[in-house]
Amino acid sequence: MAAKKSTRPDPLRVTAIHEAGHAVASYFLHVKIKAVTIIPAEDALGEVTHPPIRFASSPGVFDDSVRGIDRAERHIIVLWAGQLAQRKHAPRSRWRVSGSADREAAMKLFWHITSADEKARNLQSALLWRRAELLVEQHWKSILAVADALLEHKTLDADGVRAAVDRAHGLKPLALGRVAARGEVG
Ligand SMILES: [Zn+2]
Repeated sequence: MAAKKSTRPDPLRVTAIHEAGHAVASYFLHVKIKAVTIIPAEDALGEVTHPPIRFASSPGVFDDSVRGIDRAERHIIVLWAGQLAQRKHAPRSRWRVSGSADREAAMKLFWHITSADEKARNLQSALLWRRAELLVEQHWKSILAVADALLEHKTLDADGVRAAVDRAHGLKPLALGRVAARGEVG
């Protein structure tokens, strides 16, 4: 049987899609980011830097208020969104391997918020995973736009992510000068 010509996805684009998954999930879940980059770090192909996460009012104490739990859940979804975006773009890429550090970080958070009951725990993690999958599906256009911007600029700050998401929705950056001028006339 003739081997199918392999159309292996461009590895840099795979990285850009993975990081864009994190960035777009952060954007829509209101998790602050400092920057997202496809410039390789020491132990990763790219990364998203978040401001230091504050889960505790005092060091070493987990904030288990409703707000604290909600924040942890959103971070878990952001952590999972990278590999899920990668899986959608390149299902045969090693997305599980690429996402292993993300999953480890997510599990650390998960153990803080989950139930002692195994059945409840499995349902909770399945629901969070599904929320991450749906987010990637619903915002795929934005993920592609952020990935393109990453391939062009290598690094984006939060404003750069927002601009790329806006472009994906056909929004032009607001021309403040023109709006002000029109306001004066009217
Ligand atoms: Zn990642």
